[in-house]
Amino acid sequence: MKNFLNLEMNRNFQDEFSNSKITQMLAEKIRDTARKIKKNVALMEVCGTHTVAIFRSGIKSILPENVRLISGPGCPVCVTPNNYLDRAIALSRLDDTVLCTFGDMMKVPGSSSSLEKEKTGGKDIRIVYSTLDALKIAQENPDKKIIFLGVGFETTAPTVAFALKEARKEKIRNFYVLSAHKLVPPALRFLAESEDLKVDGFICPGHVSTIIGTKPYEFLVREFEFPCVISGFEPLDLFQSLYILLSQIQKKKPEISNQYVRAVKGNGNLKALGLMDEVFEKEDSIWRGIGMIPFSGLRIGDDYKEFDALTQINVQVEKNREPKGCLCGLVIQGKKTPLDCPFFARKCNPRNPIGPCMVSSEGSCQAYFKYGQVKGSRRSYGSVYRTLACVILAP
Ligand code: SF4
Repeated sequence: MKNFLNLEMNRNFQDEFSNSKITQMLAEKIRDTARKIKKNVALMEVCGTHTVAIFRSGIKSILPENVRLISGPGCPVCVTPNNYLDRAIALSRLDDTVLCTFGDMMKVPGSSSSLEKEKTGGKDIRIVYSTLDALKIAQENPDKKIIFLGVGFETTAPTVAFALKEARKEKIRNFYVLSAHKLVPPALRFLAESEDLKVDGFICPGHVSTIIGTKPYEFLVREFEFPCVISGFEPLDLFQSLYILLSQIQKKKPEISNQYVRAVKGNGNLKALGLMDEVFEKEDSIWRGIGMIPFSGLRIGDDYKEFDALTQINVQVEKNREPKGCLCGLVIQGKKTPLDCPFFARKCNPRNPIGPCMVSSEGSCQAYFKYGQVKGSRRSYGSVYRTLACVILAP
């Protein structure tokens, strides 16, 4: 399969994605195109996995002076509201209940506790790697309520939908999901409509796009004239995507480009989309630090309401208290960077996180903390594991 620049991209990942000749060529093209643009441009990588991939590969350190990358709202843990976490904590305190979650939710601080603290205090909270793991726990413990925390974007929601269908098929009556699933295109619309957003183009998420395809982004070009590229996650993918975006800006021809052709199709994954449609319904949803975004969340639909932990299990939830001074809300909208936060690397670090952006491995604050050798940063934190500069300089 070929993609832009006619590069063969599916033969051998090791060779193809670390090829110093291709990287040098792309670096040169990026520099040339940036020079021709003759103004500063800011490009937003929407997805948290891209944020980490960009930091890990050291791409920021070799960007032209006039090109800046900023992080967006694509870290599911970061945008899950505080009161969702408070509800999860309250549920974990109920008798005969097992709470199942992906590991990155454990340390997120709620209003007065965290799942990690509750687990240390003896509550039955288990880290699982898939919704089906939680379903298995339900099968093995018929006398307990098993509640799975459904946190994630369009990539996670179909797997949860599939588990609920399985639960019905297997007549499992003690399995529940507390849904906080979010949808990316409505969040992009929110950002695009935001008057103070200073972004010249979007690197659209790769994983989400494998499910939804390319079409749901078309409004960004049609209504707002934003250049967009759907990107893979290898360093060469990102380099190529940057070149594509800068070319669109230089030619003043915004469009939705699909760099990640080896995984993303125009219509997406119809089977996964069908599962989501069958089990979930769209609803207005609160994004932590941002607020309500119309039709940006998924609740469990009426046909599957017996599995809905929100409506089927009564629990007292404490009053919401947000961490004072945390800038996560502005960081995930690209309006501030973690370096603007007075707590960064001082009061707030991965061992003692104040906000979710420092907890999640996909959060901007943690990425800055771990890999943050960034031009203009106040200091360098941690180490860069691998830099493209090394690849470029390699013989
Ligand atoms: Fe919030 Fe900590 Fe990030 Fe500051 S450094 S924005 S307190 S998570």
